[in-house]
Amino acid sequence: MDRRVRMGMVGGGQGAFIGAVHRIATRLDDKIELVCGAFDVDPQRSKAFGKEVFLPDNRVYGTYQEMIEAESKLPEGERMDFVSIVTPNHVHHPVAMAALSAGFHVACEKPMTVTLEQAKELEQKVKETGLLFLLTHTYTGYPLVKHAREMVRNGQLGKIRRIVVEYPQGWMASRTEDTGCQQASWRVDPSQAGGSFTMGDIGTHAANLAETISGLKITDMCSDLHSYVPGRKLDDDGSILLKFEDGATGLLWASGVAIGEENGLNIRIYGEKGGLTWRQEEPNTLVAAWLDKPKEVLRTGLVDSQIAQDKTRVPPGHPEGYLEAFANLYTNFAGAIADAKAGKSASPESHDFPSVKEGVRGMAFIQGAVESSKQQAWTKFPV
Ligand code: NAD
Repeated sequence: MDRRVRMGMVGGGQGAFIGAVHRIATRLDDKIELVCGAFDVDPQRSKAFGKEVFLPDNRVYGTYQEMIEAESKLPEGERMDFVSIVTPNHVHHPVAMAALSAGFHVACEKPMTVTLEQAKELEQKVKETGLLFLLTHTYTGYPLVKHAREMVRNGQLGKIRRIVVEYPQGWMASRTEDTGCQQASWRVDPSQAGGSFTMGDIGTHAANLAETISGLKITDMCSDLHSYVPGRKLDDDGSILLKFEDGATGLLWASGVAIGEENGLNIRIYGEKGGLTWRQEEPNTLVAAWLDKPKEVLRTGLVDSQIAQDKTRVPPGHPEGYLEAFANLYTNFAGAIADAKAGKSASPESHDFPSVKEGVRGMAFIQGAVESSKQQAWTKFPV
């Protein structure tokens, strides 16, 4: 393609968290440009924010409906190529459906929707339209996560036995939602967040990471969700026993009330021949332990899998992190869009990014966690 891929953004206005991260990540490899947006739930604030990101007034819209309608009328090459959805969860489904119906590719934040039914509907729409869909499970973008996945695929760990994944945070240990923190208030409101705070917000990342690295799907879950902070309608901590395909078992813990924890996503995978440990807060180190030889400390830029090296930008010892992992998702997605425009096949698998399939599994994971906790019993993974 002889130009950058053009992005329209929904959400991510003044004071928003992840929209700004997406704007940085899309610029990192210089393949994507922001051309329009409906940035805020309040149309006036959306217009005002457009000036902060230097967009012309006629490409800043009051609502996503206006944006999709107006952009559809512009000539190809001028109009946006895809919509990036960075709103609270309950807005993902309507925007994604509208964008796909109008012929635009979609990048969407997780959890993909607020119900499993909506997720399946979206999957069907993606199938029907043949358009591309990126689900931003950020942590799959790290080079060492890709390398860990390669090691499992190559059989280096042997048959997988145990997967232990945790994602504790401490920022919701008191009534953060009463402090004017916009990120907190919608996350514990079931009408905006969906059926679970911890499992929707962070547990879904942990489950996706476990399935991505191990290549094994969760089949059964036994969940115990709690709400420790008084007055909360949704859980703020939860533990889940997991069964995976091929006899592997696991544990998943996600928490918003683990005081002192920042963004503690950690995963350990144990097979018959070895084990792997990766910690998101130290993402440039992967520890491999072996049954028959000493432990190895693997570092970003110094591993032998091509897929990990291709997603590393600077020489070893120059730390890469969250923004680069995000950029890795977006750059692959931009490549897929360019290929699709050139008439080449552009499946998520060939370009390596999470998509609508992972979104459906994420919503099934949340539904299963809530149901199992209610029944205090094992439940089958709902898809
Ligand atoms: P936020 O509250 O900081 O920002 C949400 C933004 O969406 C605000 O600007 C709000 O005005 C806007 N908005 C709401 N409704 C809208 C509408 N109808 N039209 C246009 N704009 C609208 O939220 P956040 O923390 O940035 O989270 C946003 C999404 O990103 C959530 O789904 C969350 O789960 C996800 N998230 C993902 C990651 C990750 O690592 N992948 C990290 C944080 C958040």
